[in-house]
Amino acid sequence: MDKALYMDDSYLKEWDTKVKSVSQDKFIVLEKTAFFPRGGGVEWDTGIITTDDGRKFNVVYTGKFSGEISHEVDKNGLKVGDIVHCNLDWYKRYLLMRYHTATHVLSGVFYNEYNLKITGNQLTTEKGRIDLNMDEMDVDSIKKAIEKSNEIIKKGLSVQIYYKSREEAEKDPDLFKLAKEFSHDIDTIRIVDIKGFDRQADGGCHVKNLDEIGKIKFKEAVNKGKNFKRVYFTLE
Ligand SMILES: [Zn+2]
Repeated sequence: MDKALYMDDSYLKEWDTKVKSVSQDKFIVLEKTAFFPRGGGVEWDTGIITTDDGRKFNVVYTGKFSGEISHEVDKNGLKVGDIVHCNLDWYKRYLLMRYHTATHVLSGVFYNEYNLKITGNQLTTEKGRIDLNMDEMDVDSIKKAIEKSNEIIKKGLSVQIYYKSREEAEKDPDLFKLAKEFSHDIDTIRIVDIKGFDRQADGGCHVKNLDEIGKIKFKEAVNKGKNFKRVYFTLE
């Protein structure tokens, strides 16, 4: 499959394409898509697919199945070969981009300053959740790391996307702090580089500049066991 459109342009909100396949009348594969499929702990994109004769289909879920991005629509009627116009729910996507980049800032701070890794994350439009391999619960350190992250966000560093060969990328272990997000079966590694602060192998959608994130607000920390502390945050 061709690379998803969001890989090189996470600000693309609408585009024209063709229906490539339809299964069970509601799972649609498009020739080109910018709908982000659920993955790496990040929620999926929703939006609207409109046919050239004006029929509208809501995309209620986007997932990746057998290596292809599949769009679940809310009603029957799309056919292979249909020419369609796609619109993302930009409110949702942009919020998820802000949450995702915020998680990379947090990951960088916890890694650089506390030698902690994020072992899991779940990002929705309501809140962010990260799991830390923190041994003893230390809420003060968590709050300090969030303060530090907010200081870094205020610097307005740019976020750049580029690619490296897997061989080259594997020489740089810092790229794989968020181990869960990295698929080991790909030859080209996409890098999300917060200039001068953090680099990460990553397939997701990010803001172009940290100042778009706003401010991270600590919500709650939960002790889930040894080396497993769960932290909830919101953005404002
Ligand atoms: Zn990421």
